[in-house]
Amino acid sequence: MLDYEPLALSAGPYLDLQCDGGPRLMGSECLECGHRLFPVAAVCPNCMSDQLKPLPLSREGKVYSFTVLRQAPPGFDSPSIISYVDLREGVRVFTHLDMLPHQAKCDMVVHLKVVDPKIDKFGRKVLQFKFAPIGGAQ
Ligand SMILES: [Zn+2]
Repeated sequence: MLDYEPLALSAGPYLDLQCDGGPRLMGSECLECGHRLFPVAAVCPNCMSDQLKPLPLSREGKVYSFTVLRQAPPGFDSPSIISYVDLREGVRVFTHLDMLPHQAKCDMVVHLKVVDPKIDKFGRKVLQFKFAPIGGAQ
């Protein structure tokens, strides 16, 4: 039997739940070359430096691209939308969109939304995030 530490709401290093104003994603910024990325990393993929600092990311971004999944893996809703969302910091985040497929559009402004945890096959609570339209989709 596997002995995993429960992930229940501890949120991995990629999500800070204690920020003022609500949860936000955490990335990294390289102190050597300035490269920014998501999620938090120990080594810069651009220059291989290990001198990185945590980078709190914007809660708002723009949809760069998306696709609709009509057959989802077990535990996921179908249809669902996966997307790349560009944040102000120059970081592109791979994420789900919380909207109906016909509502998704490139360049639409979306905001971070932490959703109820799902239970994985080991019985652990896994916190998830998505991006949702600001003010509802049109
Ligand atoms: Zn670097």
